[in-house]
Amino acid sequence: MRQSQFLLPTMKENPADADVVSHQLMLRAGLVRPLASGLYTWLPAGLRVLRKIEHIIREEMNRSGGQELLMPVVQPAELWQDSGRWTKMGPEMLRLQDRHERDFCLGPTHEEVITDLFRREIQSYKQLPVNYYQIQTKFRDERRPRFGVMRAREFTMKDGYSFHADQASFDATYQEMYQCYCRILTRMALDFRPVEADTGSIGGAHSHEFHVLAESGEDTIVYASDGSYAANLEKATAAEPGPRPAPSRAMSSIKTPNVKSISDLCTMLDITPNTTVKTLVVAGDEGPLAIVLRGDHELNPIKASKLPGVKQPFALATEAEILTHTGASPGSLGPVNSNIPVLVDREAAALADFICGANINEEHLAGVNWGRDVKLDTQQIVDARNVVAGDTAPDGQGTLQFLRGIEVGHIFQLGTVYSAAMNASVLSQDGQNLIPMMGCYGMGVTRLVAAVIEQNHDANGIVWPAPLAPFQVHIIALNLQKSEAVQLAAEDLYAKCLDQGLEVLFDDRNERPGVKFAEADLIGIPHRVVIGERGLKNGVVEYKKRTDTKATEIALASVLTQLSGE
Ligand code: ATP
Ligand code: MG
Repeated sequence: MRQSQFLLPTMKENPADADVVSHQLMLRAGLVRPLASGLYTWLPAGLRVLRKIEHIIREEMNRSGGQELLMPVVQPAELWQDSGRWTKMGPEMLRLQDRHERDFCLGPTHEEVITDLFRREIQSYKQLPVNYYQIQTKFRDERRPRFGVMRAREFTMKDGYSFHADQASFDATYQEMYQCYCRILTRMALDFRPVEADTGSIGGAHSHEFHVLAESGEDTIVYASDGSYAANLEKATAAEPGPRPAPSRAMSSIKTPNVKSISDLCTMLDITPNTTVKTLVVAGDEGPLAIVLRGDHELNPIKASKLPGVKQPFALATEAEILTHTGASPGSLGPVNSNIPVLVDREAAALADFICGANINEEHLAGVNWGRDVKLDTQQIVDARNVVAGDTAPDGQGTLQFLRGIEVGHIFQLGTVYSAAMNASVLSQDGQNLIPMMGCYGMGVTRLVAAVIEQNHDANGIVWPAPLAPFQVHIIALNLQKSEAVQLAAEDLYAKCLDQGLEVLFDDRNERPGVKFAEADLIGIPHRVVIGERGLKNGVVEYKKRTDTKATEIALASVLTQLSGE
């Protein structure tokens, strides 16, 4: 490709509204251009990268037994009414009508369409398992599109769906997909972690997210420093606390005027938060419920929403509700003499001689002990908190540490939710109706481009890993308008590279050398050959890998061998 004719609009300065490196570099290196909020045009260089990622995904999915198909972006409302999601989906789903005033949506995902296809085409257990995937545009009207293509409204996803007669078959495909995702991300030279994830309302044992490690990641992932445990923060749990010490103090009450929070309490009494408990009130099925946590811990809303008696969707009680039901303000609540039911996080349940609110405004209790001062049944003890760095891993292997990650993939068990709701049964071995289990396997194809850049850049620009680079070779001809020798040598090398099947970008523009070098670094092509008049006089050109700090001189005659060998 001749750069003089290639649509590669670079920018010297960082665009003002781009706040992560990948977004800045994708704009500056001419990979994408915004059209409207969360909508991007992929320019030729960006599209070349995107196609390479798609190619790797296809190869590995096919190798794992996936069959590629392609479903429509526009989906009829009837299918979503069938599954029950037409009314459940919030404003993320963009709805539209055709000229006959029939309802449609732009597909935010394709469970309904694939399940409809399945129920029409697959009749017998003998045809199972099946694993279908597509690489397709999704539309989600995200509340906050940001970070460029990382959280866009229109984006490309690889979404796969499998159907099974039994759990063992599902488990085998799930393992295969797990391995497949690892292969894909390894081929892309990414530093990634598969982590256990929450299975959401669907339940089931299987759910993993694949995170590319990056400071700019929106997600917190938790891993054991000397072990194999890894989970996202929503799901992560720590080892059970040790046994509760015996009580050593009597319970006493203390006046705590103006104490509204744990930190106020600690300042006033000169104590640390881990000797206190805090009491949060959430909406329950039969009125409000108290959840007690150690003072230094945070509630995990995902875990809390799954506790027995907690109302869906999860919500904290308002201050007015708290006052009505407990007679005290939020800063003075506690488990002793509570007139609402109490659940207690494991770590809070392991405390002795702790301090808590007295359920009387501006009063606390010190030296409180479970059993002696307040009843505590084992059914009340739950895991409701976010883990913190330094906790012991649940399997006892290592301590928990935190990292930031970009979620690029998510695989999970759908169970029979869609196949049952949409009546997608097949005939079982004994002639009965069998509702197949489903698995679902998503990967953010456009998000991956940004994730790759987050991990592969330096101060001067992108440093593409070879399998993803838009071109492998960048030929830069210096002052070719003034030097016939340079022009001839560059044209000759360019033609030979093309003959060899190398992907080559030829900078044949009439630009200053400094501009050409800076742009070459920004674009980040792995191999750079600079042809200049001075070198040619000695029969040499300059060769530099994007990862090298210095160029080396090599004979013009051997440059092609060098490039083909790489
Ligand atoms: P997130 O928590 O980031 O919103 P999600 O749970 O909504 O993700 P899935 O429905 O599991 O995502 O979609 C599968 C994959 O699609 C995600 O792992 C992610 O890589 C990608 N993806 C999801 N939403 C977006 C988006 N708005 N822009 C780009 N990629 C996205
Ligand atoms: Mg989402």
